[in-house]
Amino acid sequence: MSAGSIATAAYLVAALLFVLSLAGLSKNESARGGLTYGVIGMAVALAATIGLCLHDSTARGRVVVILVAAVVIGAAIGLWRARVVQMTGMPELIALLHSFVGLAAVLVGWASYVEVEREGLATFTGSLLRIHHAEVLIGIFIGAVTFTGSVVAYLKLSAKIKSAPLVLPGKNVLNLGALVAFAALTVRFVISPDAWPIIAATAVALLFGWHLVASIGGGDMPVVVSMLNSYSGWAAAASGFLLDNDLLIVTGALVGSSGAYLSYIMCRAMNRSFLSVIAGGFGIEAGPSGDVEQGEHREITAEETAELLTAASRVVITPGYGMAVAQAQYPVADLTRTLRERGVDVRFGIHPVAGRLPGHMNVLLAEAKVPYDIVLEMDEINDDLADTDVVLVIGANDTVNPAALEDPGSPIAGMPVLRVWEARKAIVFKRSMAVGYAGVQNPLFFRENTQMLFGNARTKVEEILHALQRVPV
Ligand code: NDP
Repeated sequence: MSAGSIATAAYLVAALLFVLSLAGLSKNESARGGLTYGVIGMAVALAATIGLCLHDSTARGRVVVILVAAVVIGAAIGLWRARVVQMTGMPELIALLHSFVGLAAVLVGWASYVEVEREGLATFTGSLLRIHHAEVLIGIFIGAVTFTGSVVAYLKLSAKIKSAPLVLPGKNVLNLGALVAFAALTVRFVISPDAWPIIAATAVALLFGWHLVASIGGGDMPVVVSMLNSYSGWAAAASGFLLDNDLLIVTGALVGSSGAYLSYIMCRAMNRSFLSVIAGGFGIEAGPSGDVEQGEHREITAEETAELLTAASRVVITPGYGMAVAQAQYPVADLTRTLRERGVDVRFGIHPVAGRLPGHMNVLLAEAKVPYDIVLEMDEINDDLADTDVVLVIGANDTVNPAALEDPGSPIAGMPVLRVWEARKAIVFKRSMAVGYAGVQNPLFFRENTQMLFGNARTKVEEILHALQRVPV
């Protein structure tokens, strides 16, 4: 059996393992198994690729040095980041990793151009060569858009730049103009593969990627992260065509299509048009961020909250990003257990984009061993909120903002939210009157039946637990 056929068989096995991995990752219970399939698939793919490189190479010594150096440096940085990253820092790390995929696709495109169009090392001619010209430009374009788009997403998610949308005059015309310019440059490059169209196309794509993501506002960032995930898959697939690597094409297509599907699900959850978000907020007119306070707010202490909870028979907890920051899921799980032991009906209401990752809250609650059956999705719990005595809003803000339903001019208008204000009492745990991720003030804080419990969410929940221990059952 030749080295090529062994590698092809290994690639097939790896591709199947990646499909099993994606299937496993779709549910909490099977996610660990899904990750194992992914790790094995990647090990098989790496071994096959290294074997193939060594077999095909005429300068084996140099190839070994480059491969070992790249794998050691990459693995060391990857291991270090994965060990130190906080759960709340995952989205920005993912955005950064997507930017590397984009950059790699740009470099592969350029290397392929130098090898084939400049040095004439192609083994094909005629229309196949012209197809190669087009592949180079398309690969560089997708890679460059993914690269700068992911860098902007990283900067926004890590709060290094503001998350508000950039609204340049005629932003839609600029985006369309970039696409038309890219199409024209590709045609020119296919006819005559000079250096200037490829340089110009790279520059246009870098600017286009930057503008596309900068134009999308804070509230739509969850869709951007999954959309860039999808773009990074297509960038990898484009590199697969240039490198003539079937596994890269299959893996890229898997990542690209699953990312696109996730973006579609997120758009549906947030009542956004999929096409308008992927087109850089096309047609979305962002209103002012409106972070001015809208009246008087009332405060409550942990002891008073404990008394309210003792008198309640139905309690709903709606966690958000602040619970993750405070790592409050463990005392929240203890509070849930304590209240349930006292006969209180406690359930959780999870907004699809609460936190900074799809499923962020579910992961934290599972980690703290909160039973799955009392953790409900927004649509499952929203109608029950009117019949709830107390809602504990723990570190959530945008996901419980009534402006999304009541103020058509709000930047988050139309986004479905947890209607916590319909409960008899809503207690909001946060440290200040600061706005949430989308930068919009929350009228919930000024409602008659809302009280603010200021402080670190973890400390406050622990204080409630202590106070409850003093209150007789
Ligand atoms: P928000 O980000 O809107 O608000 C979180 C609140 O938590 C803040 O108002 C903050 O107020 C409070 N907080 C922060 N730290 C603490 C702490 N230690 N103790 C107590 N409170 C704290 O959260 P939501 O979960 O409601 O909404 C998620 C937002 O993130 C949405 O806009 C969503 O679109 C966006 N997003 C979601 C992603 C996803 O995939 N889920 C990805 C990217 C963005 P204060 O500072 O006053 O304490």
